[in-house]
Amino acid sequence: MTTMESLIGLVNRIQRACTVLGDYGGAEGTLPTLWEALPSVAVVGGQSSGKSSVLESIVGRDFLPRGSGIVTRRPLVLQLHKTEEGQVEYAEFLHLPKRRFTDFSLVRKEIQDETDRLTGKTKQISPVPIHLSIYSPNVVNLTLIDLPGLTKVAVEGQPESIVQDIENMVRSYVEKPNSIILAISPANQDIATSDAIKLAREVDPTGERTFGVLTKLDLMDKGTNALDVLEGRAYRLQHPWVGIVNRSQADINKNVDMIVARRKEREYFATSPDYSHLASKMGSEYLAKLLSKHLESVIRARIPSITSLINKSVEELESELDHLGRPIAADAGAQLYTILELCRAFDKIFKEHLDGGRPGGDRIYGVFDNQLPAALKKLPFDRHLSIQNVKKVVSEADGYQPHLIAPEQGYRRLIESALSYFRGPGEASVDAVHYVLKELVRKSIGETQELKRFPTLQNELAAASYEALERFREDSRKTVLRLVDMEAAYLTVDFFRKLPQEVEKGGNPTGPTVDRYTDGHFRRIASNVSSYIGMVSETLKNSVPKAAVYCQVREAKRSLLNHFYTVVGKKEGKQLAQLLDEDPALMERRLQCAKRLELYKSARDEIEAVSWAR
Ligand code: GDP
Ligand code: MG
Repeated sequence: MTTMESLIGLVNRIQRACTVLGDYGGAEGTLPTLWEALPSVAVVGGQSSGKSSVLESIVGRDFLPRGSGIVTRRPLVLQLHKTEEGQVEYAEFLHLPKRRFTDFSLVRKEIQDETDRLTGKTKQISPVPIHLSIYSPNVVNLTLIDLPGLTKVAVEGQPESIVQDIENMVRSYVEKPNSIILAISPANQDIATSDAIKLAREVDPTGERTFGVLTKLDLMDKGTNALDVLEGRAYRLQHPWVGIVNRSQADINKNVDMIVARRKEREYFATSPDYSHLASKMGSEYLAKLLSKHLESVIRARIPSITSLINKSVEELESELDHLGRPIAADAGAQLYTILELCRAFDKIFKEHLDGGRPGGDRIYGVFDNQLPAALKKLPFDRHLSIQNVKKVVSEADGYQPHLIAPEQGYRRLIESALSYFRGPGEASVDAVHYVLKELVRKSIGETQELKRFPTLQNELAAASYEALERFREDSRKTVLRLVDMEAAYLTVDFFRKLPQEVEKGGNPTGPTVDRYTDGHFRRIASNVSSYIGMVSETLKNSVPKAAVYCQVREAKRSLLNHFYTVVGKKEGKQLAQLLDEDPALMERRLQCAKRLELYKSARDEIEAVSWAR
């Protein structure tokens, strides 16, 4: 095999792989896929002009449905792969990847059946191509596309739009600049009426990618010939016209085989009084070689742009793969390692939220700086220390014997019951911190790029973190309530020692002679209690944040996932794999990406090898 032959074969293989990967034709406006950047040959012509027959003689095999009326109703993408001499010929459909056809009459039947599968047994058409590969030592490397024939009127059973539909479908294949047009016209019709030439001229006005093929030379009226066309006088193309004699319907009915048909075609040209001087440039074998040679030069010219397209695609695929992450290892040890790595990645982001660098941690400070002081301020001490209530509490505490000097018990009761009000804001701060932490866990999971592909692990991590936070909250709540209870357990003696002097100093001119049981007396008690409560409030304003940070924030930073690590460490291989369950769509995407990447890379290597070997 020459290097060029192998290059066309390579292009063929790339196209085939693209097809298998569903990478066939890019949506408009997107990067052209590799397939579209590679040349292929499309067969165009009027209905029954002999398109399918030409394809068959290029392949050298009977395998296409042929005949009068609309036979080809879906595009057939036919890839010919040249194999080593002596190998068995076989065909393979993309839609039946496991089945190798060695009996080509079954290939024909499968094309018919597969056509019917989409269009029904009607005369309808479908633009969805059938992909067929033929592996044979007797073919040249080529990709050929057989298309429905162009028609002029809708026949019985066809919608009115069919004429236009077919033309649009055919045009969509041949208008791409990489498409080589095999324009088939029957010799027994005036070339001026050729549908093939009409369309080819429209999409390829300079004729640089159009190959004119004249079929049915044997069916011309006696006494006429096609020399005007074949010698380029009737309609000029950049490439020479090729005349063909396919098998007639009678030959087909008689099962004249391809070898015989090719020999007969050769004989026809060699012995024809009109065409013998052109014999070496006529016939299907010559056409196949001509096309193959043309493809070579097209591919050769396109190598730089193909290579750059491949490089670009490789880059895109690699960055997508990076984004999707590496596939997960199968053994339990590696899986455990992966899980721990993912946990650490999450933990790192979570800590960044708390320590700064990422937003959110400041909201905890907000709890201490705004929420807690505001809540403390709102406590209903005014009502609690109203004259009536003070009087009531003090009297009740004294019992039948009113206090003589200072209402010791009254003070205690007033202070103790006031202190219990602090439980509410204390607990509220703990809860507020808890919700901030919970929100930060949620956010951090969302921001851990590496976790994106593992929804199960995400859920487990969230659940474990919430559970831990719940434990921290409970501990924090107990600690804060204990702080409040501690205030009630032992009052600050100093405060009361200072009290009498301050009160006397504090503008009480009548001195100790004043009646102990007037409103003034109780007002003074209320004011004393109030300033004691104020002092405690100041203390708690400082100590509640310390407790919450100590029990919740510090613990979250230190041991949020400790429990989870223990649980994960005890898990068996299968359970670990479950934790690393990926979104199936994502797994599929990665697989596709990896396959495509492999294809593109090997294509690049091969193209490089071939183009250097010149
Ligand atoms: P398509 O509709 O363009 O694919 O045409 P087919 O390949 O199905 O051929 C239509 C009919 O024309 C078939 O019966 C063929 O046997 C016949 N036919 C095609 N080419 C030739 C030819 O060169 N000579 C003769 N005698 N018959 C031909
Ligand atoms: Mg056909």
